[in-house]
Amino acid sequence: MKLLRYGPLGHEKPGLLDTEGTLRDLSGEIDDVAGDALSSETLEHLNGLDPTTLSVVEGTPRIGSCVGNVGKFICIGLNYADHAAEAGLPLPDEPLVFMKAASAICGPYDAVEIPRTSEKCDWEVELGVVIGKRTKYVSEAEALDHVAGYCVVNDVSERDFQLQRTGQWTKGKSHDTFGPIGPWLVTRDEITDPENLDLYCAINGHRYQDGNTRTLHFGIATIISHLSQFMTLEPGDVIATGTPPGVGMGLNPPVYLKPGDVMELGVEGLGVQRQTLVSA
Ligand code: ZN
Repeated sequence: MKLLRYGPLGHEKPGLLDTEGTLRDLSGEIDDVAGDALSSETLEHLNGLDPTTLSVVEGTPRIGSCVGNVGKFICIGLNYADHAAEAGLPLPDEPLVFMKAASAICGPYDAVEIPRTSEKCDWEVELGVVIGKRTKYVSEAEALDHVAGYCVVNDVSERDFQLQRTGQWTKGKSHDTFGPIGPWLVTRDEITDPENLDLYCAINGHRYQDGNTRTLHFGIATIISHLSQFMTLEPGDVIATGTPPGVGMGLNPPVYLKPGDVMELGVEGLGVQRQTLVSA
C-alpha cells in the first residue's frame, strides 16, 4: 500500500495511491498518515478497503511529506563504507546517530532552500524507515515488526555548518526544507527485502549517487534495536539510514548546490523525489 499526504503545507490530507496510480482520499478513514494510523491494525484495515470505494482526488495537488506529525527525525551517519571513505572519516563501531530538526521536513517536490551564507549545500539520498509502534528496548529479532513502512528521504546537508562549525552535525542538517520525505510511505508488507534496494541521486540530470541498500554497514533491525536502547521510538518517527557514496563533498573537486539546480532522487519501489534549489 502506498500512503501519502496531499494539499497545502500544514493542511495535508491523507491519501492512497491505488494500483492504477490514481490518488484517492482517505479522509473518511484516518485523520492523517501519522501516529496511531500507522499501527498494524489500522494499516491492515486500510489494506482491506476496496480502493474504488474511496473518492478520487481531482487535479494535481501538492504532495506533502508522506508522514505527518513526525516527533523525531533521526539519522544514521557514515553507514555505507564507501561513503565514510569519501568523507575521510572512519567507519563507526556502532551506529553514528544524529538528529535532524523536524521543522526541516517538507514534501518530495517542494523547493529546497539554500541557507543564507551557505556555500556547501549537498545532497544525500537515503532509505527512510517509518516507525509504526512504540519501541523501547526491542531486540533485533523483533525490530522489523515495529516498522510501518519505508520511504525516500533526502538528507540535505550544509557541509560547512555540519563539519566546520562547533558542536554536532545538527546545525548542518536542520535548515527548513532540508528533509524532503516521500512521495509515498510504502507499507512494510510490500517491500520484500529493504536491504536490497537500488537508490540514486542525480543533479541536473547527472547521476552522482548510485548505490544499493545491501551495502548498508548497520542493517535496519540493528539500527532500530540500537536506537531503542537510548530513546523510545514512537509511531511516526522517521529514521534516515545513511547515504551511499557520491555526495558533492566527496567529489574532486567538490560540487555544491546552487539556486536553480534540480535534485532528483529515488529508491527502488519507493518513488522519486524532485526538488529545485532556491535562495533562503
Ligand atoms: Zn545522511
